[in-house]
Amino acid sequence: MTLLIPDEYPKNLFREDGKRLDGRENFDLRSIRMEVDVIKNADGSAYIEWGNNKIFASVYGPREVHPHHLAKPDKGILRVFYRMATFSVFDRKRPAPGRREKEISMIISDCLEPVLFLELYPGTSFEIFIEVVDADGGTRCASTIVAALALADAGVPMRSLVTSCAVGKIDGKLVTDLSGIEDKAGEADLPTAITWFNDEISLLQFDGKLSQSELNESLEMAQDALEKIYDM
Ligand code: UDP
Repeated sequence: MTLLIPDEYPKNLFREDGKRLDGRENFDLRSIRMEVDVIKNADGSAYIEWGNNKIFASVYGPREVHPHHLAKPDKGILRVFYRMATFSVFDRKRPAPGRREKEISMIISDCLEPVLFLELYPGTSFEIFIEVVDADGGTRCASTIVAALALADAGVPMRSLVTSCAVGKIDGKLVTDLSGIEDKAGEADLPTAITWFNDEISLLQFDGKLSQSELNESLEMAQDALEKIYDM
């Protein structure tokens, strides 16, 4: 696993043979392995290994809402809790959920809500608990996918699955699926997600700088990657 110490970021994110530090070509994804039904006590669960990322998701619901005042009389609610284990990154991560975890929980919830039929479950909640046990860049994307798989495993009716992947720019070149070091030392990071029932982009975040034409090309690269992952 890459150690992310700012003073020790490599000067070049490409090797002399033109490949990325982990041996990938610019458009290559890291290896991805997905599995469902991995947690006995959940209504549905899934696990994803994406490069060095290792992430579990478990789903509970529809069930009574706690605290009660969050319940909505006309529809169910979706609550997502993305957490990174203290041992999942090189520096010890503080155990209490920080702003980043709240933001990522929110964007995952925004990606998944459109595919659910929450109007069929008034007064109840669906809860998704996501635990990142090893993190190396792109955990919000991997978490979105594993959460959708866990919902499907729970038998929750869905309009479609959701697929997510980041693209970006490192050392002046556009690349697919940034690793942790590429995310930190690169020039731009663009996490995307798509809901397949309507082909809509449901996540588009942007950190860094890209020209308009690079942005367009990045979105095409994202589309290719999202299709490949969906096939998996
Ligand atoms: N990271 C870290 N410590 C933290 C948060 C993140 O080392 O407290 C690392 C981790 O490997 C993560 C990467 O930085 O995957 C990129 O984080 P970012 O916030 O961009 O989210 P992600 O790319 O994981 O969706």
